[in-house]
Amino acid sequence: MSTHGWCRVSRWSAPGRVNLIGEHVDYAQGLCLPFALAERTVVEAAVRSDGRFTARSDAEGGGVDLALDDVGPGSPAGWAGYAAGVLWALRDAGHPVGGMDLTVTATVPLGAGLSSSAALECAVAVAADELFGLGLPRDELARACVRAENEVVGAATGGMDQAAALLCTAGHALLLDTRDGSTRQVPFAPADDGLAVLVIDTRVRHDLADGQYGARRAAVEKASAALGMPSLRDATPADLEGLDADLLPRARHIVSEIARVGEVVALLDAGRLRDIGPLLDASHASLARDYAVSCAELDLAVQVARDAGALGARMTGGGFGGSAIALVPVERIDAVTDAVRAAFARAGLTAPEVRTAEPSAGAGRDD
Ligand code: ADP
Ligand code: MG
Repeated sequence: MSTHGWCRVSRWSAPGRVNLIGEHVDYAQGLCLPFALAERTVVEAAVRSDGRFTARSDAEGGGVDLALDDVGPGSPAGWAGYAAGVLWALRDAGHPVGGMDLTVTATVPLGAGLSSSAALECAVAVAADELFGLGLPRDELARACVRAENEVVGAATGGMDQAAALLCTAGHALLLDTRDGSTRQVPFAPADDGLAVLVIDTRVRHDLADGQYGARRAAVEKASAALGMPSLRDATPADLEGLDADLLPRARHIVSEIARVGEVVALLDAGRLRDIGPLLDASHASLARDYAVSCAELDLAVQVARDAGALGARMTGGGFGGSAIALVPVERIDAVTDAVRAAFARAGLTAPEVRTAEPSAGAGRDD
């Protein structure tokens, strides 16, 4: 805690995340397995008694100063909507939230698919929860963060990112069942097994991402309707046999990916982290071939990482760019990193950003 003039200022933070496995299944009532990164978004926050909200960030221009009553869908525009939107959603749910001054600093990279947006929302949520004495359960804070992103910013988000930022614990991945929102901590500490997860940010984001996302969602909904099922969660490979040729591979990705999450969790529960590599590889193949959401840069990162000694690798996140992950023996970290960088240089691509992901704690008070 520090003092600025008369006001008491405290700090809260929330982490970025990567998804270990369970990709593109959150809109099919599936399972996913994110874990929190050491990279965090920090907010310094102090209560204001005049009902105004001010915010600035070291990562983005355009600070804001507006009355909390003026926060709502589309207002404020730009990045501050992620922060102000959380206060709006908490107020809308009937909680006694007032104005605040907010200063944001972050080590989560923006727009790299590591969920800087949820990190910002969740840091604000835990700050508001404590500053206004709300004492809310984390799943309710997560719902307010999702509403901020969906309704105030107007961006589609399913809820995995906010659950990860609020609920993850160090040394674990978070098994999230998107059918009922239930979660379980699954042991995941690669360093204990002499392993590391590398996150390879390709630094590309192809324009078709948003349209293709909508098309995949629509295909999945069409497939479940054709099967007369509420979702593909309980579908088996045999159920899919009658589907049209355009829907079959899409549905096959969903069904096989949900099964792979279960297999990874069983291996982690059994202390067999080293053995999950082939499931990561199979996830990538399914996303690339059946779901068609990979791209040349992601395929290159994954292939080169494997050739240089990764036990398994896959794209992570929505696809068409963004990041890939690779499970790597620690003694191969440098070799894999160098090989990926060299391959991107040879192909004339922008240099990728490679970092090690250490399963870290969720949102909380810093001092
Ligand atoms: P991702 O969540 O994968 O990083 P998004 O497009 O969902 O990508 O969210 C990125 C946006 O979130 C940024 O463009 C910005 O508007 C906002 N944002 C995230 N972190 C910060 C920050 N530290 N300061 C200001 N804005 C931020
Ligand atoms: Mg985001």
